Amino acid sequence: MNFAGFFNPQSVAIVGASREKGKVGHEILTSLILAGYTGRIFPVNPNAGEIERLRCYPDLESIGEIPELVIIVVPAKIVPDLMLQCAKVGVKSVIVITAGFKEVGEEGRGLEEQIVRIAKQAGIRVIGPNCLGVMVPANKLNASFGGELPPTGTIGYISQSGALLAAVLDMANAIGVGFSKLISIGNKADIDELDMIKAMGEDADTKVIAGYLESISNGNAFAREAERISHDKPILLVKSGGTSAGAKAASSHTGSLAGSEIAYEAVFERAGIIRCFSVKTQFDFVQAFAYQPLPAGDRVAVITNAGGAGIMAADAVEKLSLGFAKLSDHTIGKLLQKLPAAANVYNPVDVLGDALADRYEFALRSVLQDPDVDIVLVLLTPQAMTQPKVTAEAIVKVAAAEPKKPILACFLGAAKVKEAVEVLQAGKIPQYDSPESAVLTVRKVVDYVRWCSRPKRVVKLFPVNRRKAETIVKRHLRQGIREIGEAESKEILEAYGFAVPKGSVATTAEQAANIAEQLGYPVVLKIWSPDIVHKSDVGGVKMGLRSAQEVMDAFDLMMYRIPGKLPGVNILGVLVQETCGSGKEVILGMSRDPHFGPLMMFGMGGTMVEVLRDVSFYLAPLTEDEAKQMLINTKTYKMLKGVRGEEGVDIDAIAEGLQRLSQLVTEFPQIKEMDINPYMVGPKGTTPVAVDARISVEKG
Ligand code: ADP
Ligand code: MG
Repeated sequence: MNFAGFFNPQSVAIVGASREKGKVGHEILTSLILAGYTGRIFPVNPNAGEIERLRCYPDLESIGEIPELVIIVVPAKIVPDLMLQCAKVGVKSVIVITAGFKEVGEEGRGLEEQIVRIAKQAGIRVIGPNCLGVMVPANKLNASFGGELPPTGTIGYISQSGALLAAVLDMANAIGVGFSKLISIGNKADIDELDMIKAMGEDADTKVIAGYLESISNGNAFAREAERISHDKPILLVKSGGTSAGAKAASSHTGSLAGSEIAYEAVFERAGIIRCFSVKTQFDFVQAFAYQPLPAGDRVAVITNAGGAGIMAADAVEKLSLGFAKLSDHTIGKLLQKLPAAANVYNPVDVLGDALADRYEFALRSVLQDPDVDIVLVLLTPQAMTQPKVTAEAIVKVAAAEPKKPILACFLGAAKVKEAVEVLQAGKIPQYDSPESAVLTVRKVVDYVRWCSRPKRVVKLFPVNRRKAETIVKRHLRQGIREIGEAESKEILEAYGFAVPKGSVATTAEQAANIAEQLGYPVVLKIWSPDIVHKSDVGGVKMGLRSAQEVMDAFDLMMYRIPGKLPGVNILGVLVQETCGSGKEVILGMSRDPHFGPLMMFGMGGTMVEVLRDVSFYLAPLTEDEAKQMLINTKTYKMLKGVRGEEGVDIDAIAEGLQRLSQLVTEFPQIKEMDINPYMVGPKGTTPVAVDARISVEKG
């Protein structure tokens, strides 16, 4: 899709242009003129002869040519009419600035739908409504009421909130950041964030894509396309409104732990999107991506004139698990020769409080040339003899001479470093107000580099009995039953290569004892009812039964007590089950997100899942690496690997279970939620067992 009509139009009409200062129709027109736009401008307003010395047209038709871009600023009610006029004249690109649509209620929603209908029919693309407009500094195009045009740069910014974009601009101006394009997408009636991210992906002037989003329109396409674009250009997003939309009725552990926030996390991770939790941190990160080369590795070297600041940086490096560069002997030798005896020539290099610019310059150059250093962080505190400005100039100079490795600066203080900070900003050295924020930025950059170089995703396909699973799923859907009971859930799992414990359902105590004799002691008894989701909660699980007598007693007790506690529940009997070793209990699960599809969960299993919440999520289908990463992302992982001399469990077998489950839920979109809990895993070489399982289905 070509958006030249929005980004580089040769002519612009402003429908609703106004002579009155303070009105949006006036602001937009004057912004366009003041920015030095060189194309033709056509104010349209039937009640004005001339505005800002430009001839005003009563309507679009009377202009006599087709404006490449039309900006609409008239009241919401008449916007559909104007869209019809645009269609008639043959306009292809429209920005609707006007508010009062979907965001205000039903009537507005109706108007917005009309706009989209007319646009689709006429092949018009629309940005907005309810937006701030578009800015393209390089083309001197300010088709917005967001204020002055910012400097030209390489950042493409997309915002769902117009007001926030105004704040972004103000902040960016203060720190001298420039943009390739700024687009306020407003209600996204037609053009949405994905259209614009794709456009920025193809835009030669954009190096970094940044944005503020409240929602994502087409989850699947977004995840897929963003993943593709991230390889070429980093995408940094602030995503707000993430808290789960109310309590949802989840019958599974996975469903109750997953929420839209977790889905966004998973999508961003898969797509390599760098999530930012504020606009401030977004600009911290953006500057490093836009101005500096990407590092080859994660080894950070720190240069400082104050021990304390150096320690803060070193702490942050350790806390964020980055590498702390070990300087080569050659570098140490060079530093020893030139720096005063009291200086620290190991990382962090302390050039001492009396360091002038030349000492910084020498240290920075030496450290940058060290093959064992990937990134350099320069810290400075303004002490009596310090030369902040000259030092900043020296850094800019060295950066130009050694352009292969990223340099980040952190000049601490305020008034005394103000000029120096300006020098750094002009010289495209990202400057941070604390060592922590600088190091956090390094972490993000390193993560991005790792993401880009991860191996190609290959999803393994296991031979399974799909037909069998399909029969069970379809029958439940046909009968309108949402919850597939434990027995049939396990049949489905067996069809997908999972082992399940042996056992059968008994309706009398004697029958229970007979089954137990066949299975061998000890056995487990479990209440068998389609109405009971979590059996332990109601005293419906009894373990460690070692004789026929114990089994019969436990049977009677369960059949007596549970109906007393839960009058009216349908109890079909008691399951007598073999005891599954003494393995560790983990949970494998899936909850289908309405926007992004199946979200896999792994974590510490058993009956305490919700209490401990030691779980991790990832989007299906999973690769082997991703399945393993899901394990690593939990605290349980350390325990599974074996602690204090205890033998670890078969990690690969768990990862395989996750991949098989991922295949199941990918092949059956009707499966809405499911848990295997516990998934009992033993030492290497043993087969894990799906002890308990639950699947719920829905017509999809
Ligand atoms: P629910 O989750 O409905 O309460 P489960 O079948 O998961 O019921 O059983 C609860 C807990 O009892 C499990 O997490 C596990 O610790 C233990 N347990 C259940 N069945 C077995 C079994 N066959 N072998 C060993 N432990 C079991
Ligand atoms: Mg369970």
